[in-house]
Amino acid sequence: MNFKSTIIEYRVYDQNFKRLVNQVLGRIPDTYEEEFPIFSIYEGYCEWGAMVDEQGIVFDVGKLNEESEGDNVAIKGLVAHELAHVFLKHSVLVAQGKATLEHEADKLAIKWDFKREIEVFRQKFGPPTPQK
Ligand SMILES: [Zn+2]
Repeated sequence: MNFKSTIIEYRVYDQNFKRLVNQVLGRIPDTYEEEFPIFSIYEGYCEWGAMVDEQGIVFDVGKLNEESEGDNVAIKGLVAHELAHVFLKHSVLVAQGKATLEHEADKLAIKWDFKREIEVFRQKFGPPTPQK
């Protein structure tokens, strides 16, 4: 899917990470394009490695590389999961303390054909917690 009209700011400086994000964006089925909210992607500090707020997604690339042990498949699973949160309009505020939303995001990412990536993501990052 072409995200040119939905991503307003895209500030990721780590080239490997950006390549992985682009691969995930490109694999989301076109049928989701119309309903995708406008959002931004930033690189920055995040206690949990990644989070979705009202503006979009913040990725803490250093922390994510560490937690995934450099596993690109796990990172792609995480990126698909965070994008699913955006699509489902889950932000940190609504997601706090609701593990069911984590399962919902995983389920949507699997529907987008990221089943293997989500499995590897969960192996590396652990089961859904209210923050992730
Ligand atoms: Zn999550």
